[in-house]
Amino acid sequence: MIHELTYIFHVEGLVQGVGFRPFIYRIARRYGVRGTVENSNDGVWIHVQENGKPCIGALLKSIEKEAPPASRIWRITSNKTKEPRYHDFRIIASRDRSAAITRVSPDIAVCKDCLQDMKMQPNRLDYPFVNCTNCGPRFSIIEDLPYDREKTTMKVFTMCPSCRKEYEDVNDRRFHAQPVACADCGPHYTLWTGKKREEDLSVILKDISGLLTNGGVIAVKGIGGYFLACDATNAEAVTRLRSVKLREGKPFAVMFRDIKTVKEYAEVSPEEEKEMVSWRRPIVLVREKKEKEMPRDVSVGFPTIGAMLPYMPFHYLLFEKLSLPALVLTSGNLADEPIIKDDETAIRKLGPVTDAVLTYNRRIYNRVDDSVVFFANNIRRMIRRSRGFAPAPVILPFDADGIVAAGAELVNCFCVGKGREAIMSQHIGDLKNYETWEFYTEAIERFKKLFRITPRLVACDLHPDYLSTQYALDTGLPLERIQHHHAHIASVMAENALEKKVTGVAFDGTGLGDDGHIWGGEFLVCDYVDYKRITHLAYVPMPGGDLATMQPWRMALAYLYILYGKELENLTLPVIEKVKREGLLKPVMQMMDKKINTPLTSSMGRLFDAVASITGVCMDAGFHAEAPMRLEAVISPDEKGRYPWNPGRTIDVRPMIRRIVEEAGRGIPAGIISARFHHTIADIIVTVAKEIRQNDGPDSVVLAGGTFQNRFLLEETEILLEKEGFRVYYPLEFPVNDGGIALGQLAVAAAKVRRREKKNR
Ligand code: ZN
Ligand code: ZN
Ligand code: FE
Repeated sequence: MIHELTYIFHVEGLVQGVGFRPFIYRIARRYGVRGTVENSNDGVWIHVQENGKPCIGALLKSIEKEAPPASRIWRITSNKTKEPRYHDFRIIASRDRSAAITRVSPDIAVCKDCLQDMKMQPNRLDYPFVNCTNCGPRFSIIEDLPYDREKTTMKVFTMCPSCRKEYEDVNDRRFHAQPVACADCGPHYTLWTGKKREEDLSVILKDISGLLTNGGVIAVKGIGGYFLACDATNAEAVTRLRSVKLREGKPFAVMFRDIKTVKEYAEVSPEEEKEMVSWRRPIVLVREKKEKEMPRDVSVGFPTIGAMLPYMPFHYLLFEKLSLPALVLTSGNLADEPIIKDDETAIRKLGPVTDAVLTYNRRIYNRVDDSVVFFANNIRRMIRRSRGFAPAPVILPFDADGIVAAGAELVNCFCVGKGREAIMSQHIGDLKNYETWEFYTEAIERFKKLFRITPRLVACDLHPDYLSTQYALDTGLPLERIQHHHAHIASVMAENALEKKVTGVAFDGTGLGDDGHIWGGEFLVCDYVDYKRITHLAYVPMPGGDLATMQPWRMALAYLYILYGKELENLTLPVIEKVKREGLLKPVMQMMDKKINTPLTSSMGRLFDAVASITGVCMDAGFHAEAPMRLEAVISPDEKGRYPWNPGRTIDVRPMIRRIVEEAGRGIPAGIISARFHHTIADIIVTVAKEIRQNDGPDSVVLAGGTFQNRFLLEETEILLEKEGFRVYYPLEFPVNDGGIALGQLAVAAAKVRRREKKNR
């Protein structure tokens, strides 16, 4: 037998379930090479023999340059060998089916080719479940691996002969597209209006556009859960939707018909546009244009809109019928519950409060909410990581196999370690809600099964009352308790594979410190194993404990009490008038005097609360972190001034508060004070980081914690630190808030295990 020179390429990364093999097949055909491509548990393997003329270099470049949009190549390694002559190029069955493929692709927005098929293919005319290897549902429908139709919620649909032909044809765009479907064999929509059901799609589209145009509110099944929708330009409809959601004060996301329409309502940078039209289709926070505003109830007074574009075939069909520019499209849940994903629950809970419920008969297995991002210094930052992102892993600089990190509590995501990969869950939510807690425990079980993980260690927060800590305890497995802010910083270190010590600036609302106080304005010098608390915002009382997080006026009283004692009664500030009017001044002062339910805190979030209250911007919060967000929203961007503060053993901001009180009393606008306040916080960060560096400290600075979702503060801080020669790190793959903390817990736990094993050796 003749043996020929054969190149072997091993492609590692997110290359499964995203049309990678058909793509390689097409490239191979283009170059006229012979060989094979196959999936394996460790990536994709390609064997290539040239056909006379050398082309391997060009072929490799094409693979890197033209790879399917949802794929991500981490590494291609190559080798040369001699193999028997191949006669053609083929996709071959995976040799090792037992070693399960561990990668699950995120859900992918419908592609251009499929939208075209929806207008051309007889069996897919206006068919809203069209998909191919480059697009369609993935994580949301996968029950188990390997990724085969039988392991997805598509298993109940039997392919018709025409779909099967496409599925089996290596030259077809639907070759091995597991959710492949057409009007003859696939899922379909049903519209429930009370007890009346409608299954004819053209009637459904007519009914829905009629309802929406006339100010109706409807529930619509999306990719990973149900959504509530109404006309985004109809103030009454939006207000009604808000009342349906119960206790929901947060801004709503808006789906625009196309990018052109987004630009009529908002300033969109090239980077923001690129993200918005990408296959991930997240919600992008963009600046609203003054001349064309949406009703106030959409963004509740914030100068930004959470904008997104259609991502399901159905969205496109709906906008074809609809003459409205945009729809509010917000998670279909009541109060703090997780997004509803089951049809029966949707009809029972959302049916009575909406005008119609639109369902379809393909089950959602894994719940995934819409993802939310914003841009600062033209770089994408995550706020909520779900559809389009989860459950893509990150590669760690070390092994974390079998470690489960339980996450935080209020904004929970958990994280599991598989070899050197860290797999972060989709957005889970606030564990204090019972339905969310159930979702959490169920999702952990599903991740264990899906990714074949046998937990050997659980990492959790130091806080004994977090429900995630309770979960960790209940597993009975060995436990690592990790300080909240250390975990925040370690998360950014792990994402960036940082090995050296860093100065971590961890600013957020709350996190239990190792001294029993509530931290949140911290400067830690740390590596993965240890941290040293260099300095922090000076402690202040937090009258009412957790109550203060939703009642920012309490923090105003705390800071004013420290400065003025009982004299604070005589200050002419709106917040003092308010608490006097409500008869709360005396009782809260007594609380602080007698130290009843008044823990000490160094939280930066609480300092923002205090300033937002003293300036009258926000005294009671309708939702988590509203006061800091409102304070940022009123900034006068041209104001350059800043306030004095005292560095010392701890950071003393009393001089600043004194000036703010004095300026607020003189009627200086809140926007000016807010700008000066933000500049001061940036100044604190830079000054302290420089001082740490001068004392032989690190020249790398990590910014972490929910406070850094503040775009103004983040942009200024990054620019100033870089000007001073620091390397600045910020999480790009994961949220900077508590939604990213599980990765840090995982990294610290893994490092501690490593160190113990070293010692024992
Ligand atoms: Zn497609
Ligand atoms: Zn079919
Ligand atoms: Fe936090």
